[in-house]
Amino acid sequence: MEQGPVIINEERLSQEFIKVAEIASPSFREGALKDYLFERLTGLGLEVEEDETGSKIGGDCGNILARLPGEEKLQSLFFCAHMDTVEPAMGVKVVFQDGIFRSEGSTILGGDDKAGIAAILGMLELLRANPVPHPPLEIIFTVGEEQGLLGSKNFDFSKIKAKFGYVLDSSGPPGTIITAAPAQNKLDITVRGRAAHAGIDPERGINAIQVAGQALAKLRLGRIDAETTANIGLIDGGKATNIVPDHVYIQGEARSIDRRKLDALTEEILATFTRVAEGVGAKSDVKAELLYPEFRLDTELSVLNYAASAARNAGLPVRFETSGGGSDANIFNAAGIPAANLSIGMEQVHTAEEYLSFKDLAADVRWLWEILRAAAAGGAKTL
Ligand SMILES: [Zn+2]
Repeated sequence: MEQGPVIINEERLSQEFIKVAEIASPSFREGALKDYLFERLTGLGLEVEEDETGSKIGGDCGNILARLPGEEKLQSLFFCAHMDTVEPAMGVKVVFQDGIFRSEGSTILGGDDKAGIAAILGMLELLRANPVPHPPLEIIFTVGEEQGLLGSKNFDFSKIKAKFGYVLDSSGPPGTIITAAPAQNKLDITVRGRAAHAGIDPERGINAIQVAGQALAKLRLGRIDAETTANIGLIDGGKATNIVPDHVYIQGEARSIDRRKLDALTEEILATFTRVAEGVGAKSDVKAELLYPEFRLDTELSVLNYAASAARNAGLPVRFETSGGGSDANIFNAAGIPAANLSIGMEQVHTAEEYLSFKDLAADVRWLWEILRAAAAGGAKTL
């Protein structure tokens, strides 16, 4: 197929990013952004609906699902980005200087994940201005991603036709494709000792802080191996210096791309607390909860082939990488819909120093556009 050069409207794209970045949307309060996107997608000719996730998770809106018809003989594909951001998110003012978007002052920029949203809108604009054959598209904008992938976890996957797709939610240069990400277990541990007056009868007490300390000292934490990590991130206990503390509450996490390694490490951490506590007459309540499952995509899958050939066509260096973090892609893959997470150029996310270059945002738009073309060409070949 002969394809003339497609021109991205740079002014419109930069204004689009600034617009969505300046609509505050911390987790559970994505409503204003949802309203804007609902209207925007409708204006671009998509059929848009909002699901019931908001009421299920205590937020002010649900996930957005929008559809754009395409060539029926091609497999549907989806693009996904999340609407919510971390805090501080109120009053974001974007400064666009020398081709870089930053926040003015102390808020985040929210490029995580509004770079993904703006890239998807930019791709839809480009498609409208340059109509080409493409697969039927589903656009999913989720809520509550930063709170444990709540939006995608509550998404009704029976509503979508997509056979594969892309989550736009990774830092790093456009062209990088995340092909695997870990499962995560949340760890909750309570060590129970015995309270006593610290000066009058400390002999009666069992110091839960000291017991917890002994157990913590025995743990393997940090990077365990190339695909496995563990962390203790919160500890809380004790009431006053003159009381032998009777309980300590500890929260941590373990992650691995290999589920057997995750299970073994989790068991090791929990068993350490149990053993140390029992050794001194204390008790421990230990609990592990799977927050999300891992994924690992076979490199032969067309979801990766399309993204790689599209990146090449967009002039981007192709890299396949493994991530240490979870994203909505974990949930799509768990639902049986192969999903790669794409690096879209957002940097230093979750900080006030967060930034995004316009060059990367424009590259994202071009990349998505080329994915449509690669999917149209690839799908046609198999017929
Ligand atoms: Zn994100």
